[in-house]
Amino acid sequence: ALMKGPLPSLFFCIGNPVVGNPTQYMMEEAFLAMDFPGQYITCEVEPNQLQTALEGLKALKVAGGNVTAPFKQLVFPYLDSFTESARLSNAVNCITLQADGTYQGDNTDGKGFLQSLQEQVGNLSERRVVLFGAGGAASAIAVELVLCEVQEVILVNRTREKAEALAQRLRGVTKTTVSTQAWEGTYQIEEDGLVVVQATSVGLFDEKRCIDVAFSQGLQDVIACDVVFNPTDTAFLKRAREVGATTLDGLGMLVNQGVLGLQNWTGMVPDAQVMRAALEKAFSIG
Ligand code: NDP
Repeated sequence: ALMKGPLPSLFFCIGNPVVGNPTQYMMEEAFLAMDFPGQYITCEVEPNQLQTALEGLKALKVAGGNVTAPFKQLVFPYLDSFTESARLSNAVNCITLQADGTYQGDNTDGKGFLQSLQEQVGNLSERRVVLFGAGGAASAIAVELVLCEVQEVILVNRTREKAEALAQRLRGVTKTTVSTQAWEGTYQIEEDGLVVVQATSVGLFDEKRCIDVAFSQGLQDVIACDVVFNPTDTAFLKRAREVGATTLDGLGMLVNQGVLGLQNWTGMVPDAQVMRAALEKAFSIG
């Protein structure tokens, strides 16, 4: 029989609401495949109990966990240290207990995305990226694009001030140029070689909805990525594929942020295929 626990092999997800969150299922499948005696619990926390919840988890030396909406920005006062990704994105999605008993906040969302993109494209240093959105997912992605020093990140958001605020935080961090563009009417993608990232919530749970974007014909070397993972094949990705673009779905990012979290917690490399299969199963029955 597996030795379970005590708490050093316990992990959590905190959010509100958390009903339907597939992370626990993905992690449990990964633990089984790794033969690691981990246990994962999904907890709904009331916003006014966030501090108490985190202090309790830390007091119990619970090994780590995930943070989801609406707490990604709100956990900062209750954690002890932060990675550069967490600081720059102003969001934490992964907490890890350190050897000295403190909690460190990291953001693996953007890193997970970048890993998927690099697997598809390889070297990104000559690439210009158009990034739609300026919320949590977009911020995390923008940070990693800047840290890996792509040529330029162009932020396009419905509320342009939010894109400008994000751009200001990221300018000068590396040699990557960070700019914003207005989104008035249909945004036309006409330059070959662009990486185009759909990081708004448009299209979530709605396979017909797409942001207001059009792709010119004959774009052979455009990579179109969506952060939305349910549905996996979004209207945005279908539109991009029609003109010959390569597409990347949001499931890879979701799997990879989980892989990186598990590596933070255990130092072991889990099986990404097993985790992707778990998510596909969770979504098809969910
Ligand atoms: P936020 O609420 O932080 O940001 C939402 C973004 O979507 C904002 O930029 C907002 O623009 C934009 N937006 C919302 N509605 C519209 C609209 N009708 N037209 C144009 N823009 C719109 O959400 P998150 O960033 O946390 O999440 C965004 C998506 O990313 C969700 O679908 C989520 O499921 C997904 N996600 C995927 C992950 C993965 O691993 N694949 C990880 C994390 C999130 P404005 O500023 O103008 O309001």
